[in-house]
Amino acid sequence: MSSSSISAKIKIIKGDITRQTTDAIVNAANESLLGGGGVDGAIHRAAGSQLIEECKTLGGCPTGEARITKAYNLPCKYVIHTGGPIWRGGNHGESRLLASCYRNSLELAVENAIKSISFPSISTGVYGFPFEKACLISLGEIQAFLTNHSNLEMVYLVCFSEQDLETCQDLFDRELV
Ligand code: ADP
Repeated sequence: MSSSSISAKIKIIKGDITRQTTDAIVNAANESLLGGGGVDGAIHRAAGSQLIEECKTLGGCPTGEARITKAYNLPCKYVIHTGGPIWRGGNHGESRLLASCYRNSLELAVENAIKSISFPSISTGVYGFPFEKACLISLGEIQAFLTNHSNLEMVYLVCFSEQDLETCQDLFDRELV
């Protein structure tokens, strides 16, 4: 597939991940999968308590891996939970692990016949991963994945602030088009 048809399948938007109506949304979870703050807390609040009950049956999710659940009261069909790396200065495999989060989430999506998926900016909140660096990793992984998987139709990167949206869109325009 050409790079312009790949970039047409990636959309950067500003919004709340819990409102996305794509087949799946991704949760920036922690290894326990038992809930947390930020995106994780918002997803669990909007999904209802059945989500935590299903998460309890999964036995956690090591950093960089991904697990899928139903979405309960959310408007999407599935939630893909991935354990993002905590930023510890950059020399502890953080970039490789963040790339794995995106790749494994996308793999799980395709295995479950998901056609559209929304990602938050994993690890860039409480986990402290520098936003620009994280954005370059997510864009790179998503682009590489779409090049090899034509059945995934749309990937949304959902930015929470205007500033994040501008930064991410700018990197996308410079790196991918
Ligand atoms: P992490 O622990 O992986 O850093 P956070 O939830 O603290 O996860 O933050 C990850 C990113 O998600 C941050 O950029 C934050 O601004 C953003 N964020 C927080 N709440 C939401 C939401 N409801 N929808 C989309 N993005 C959100």
